Amino acid sequence: QYILAIETSCDETAVAIVKNERELVTNVVASQIESHKRFGGVVPEIASRHHIEQMTVTLEEALDESGLTIDDMDAVAVTEGPGLVGALLVGVNAAKSIAFSKQKPLVGVHHIAGHIYANRLEKEFEFPLLALVVSGGHTELILMREHGKFEIIGETRDDAAGEAYDKVARTLKLPYPGGPQIDRLATEGKETIDFPRAWLEDGSYDFSFSGLKSAVINRLHNAKQKGEVLKDEDVAASFQASVVDVLSTKAYRAAAEYEVKQMIVAGGVAANRGLRSALVEKFEHLDTELLIPPLHLCTDNAAMIAAAGAVAFNQGHRAGWDLNANPGLDLEKYGQRS
Ligand code: ATP
Ligand code: MG
Ligand code: FE
Repeated sequence: QYILAIETSCDETAVAIVKNERELVTNVVASQIESHKRFGGVVPEIASRHHIEQMTVTLEEALDESGLTIDDMDAVAVTEGPGLVGALLVGVNAAKSIAFSKQKPLVGVHHIAGHIYANRLEKEFEFPLLALVVSGGHTELILMREHGKFEIIGETRDDAAGEAYDKVARTLKLPYPGGPQIDRLATEGKETIDFPRAWLEDGSYDFSFSGLKSAVINRLHNAKQKGEVLKDEDVAASFQASVVDVLSTKAYRAAAEYEVKQMIVAGGVAANRGLRSALVEKFEHLDTELLIPPLHLCTDNAAMIAAAGAVAFNQGHRAGWDLNANPGLDLEKYGQRS
């Protein structure tokens, strides 16, 4: 069984093919990072235009690489949300045209379900499992007791982890996207500044990063006023220590409380070296298996949409020809759709 998938929710135009739910056949990603860099972030109108320009070439490249044709596909899966509406629409319309013209079933996929299912291309899931989703727009702890169903047990009350990385990076005048830059600087610096950690109420699995972001900005501002020299490396290391401490501690506590078989890390910030090593260290003390995807499956791609789409397809989910982009699609409700 072959599933063709399209992902255009943000600034990556991506097409992939997955065989039998778990085997990656091709994964083509056209990134627009260079076009958005000079604006310091993703510009929605530019993203949509790039998706239109890249959609057909990316699809052709994926098919060429695989040696397969659309006739060989069993279904077409596409990210229906959440994301930028204009960006999502390009993928949704492309998927609808392909599926309609070849009379193939169409499957809508939630972007975050995709980030989670990226891990299943590496290792079979064992339930119950927890997913720590840390990306540009989301920071969530999600409990899964079965395929396709999601329970959010904790989420950010303000900024997402990736967003905090990008904002702090911008304050340090580092290029977009800032996450990888801070990650690199952090390895060269020392944790000399004691930044706050937002633990929130006892037992809460929610997160908050806006206080930390403000603390970093204020600390840099004060230093400048006093003529004190702060090394960017040390600011990066101290900021990262705070983020990683909270993320890894809450993930560990949740895994122990829910007695999960696996802990999955997903989303762009899962690429972070500090987070990866902190999690590995903590989970040595638990029976929970820790799954961290390889870097190419952490950031946006269509392989993850194919992996989640294949499961949805085999569970009988079909989208109609009226499928629309849904920028605010809710993960729990998506899992409960009929
Ligand atoms: P969402 O998935 O929530 O819709 P998104 O698709 O924009 O948002 P991703 O592409 O999954 O997010 O991840 C991008 C984010 O990951 C950016 O904020 C980026 O800075 C961050 N990121 C990437 N690599 C690293 C890293 N090594 N360390 C920290 N952050 C990183
Ligand atoms: Mg992205
Ligand atoms: Fe994403």
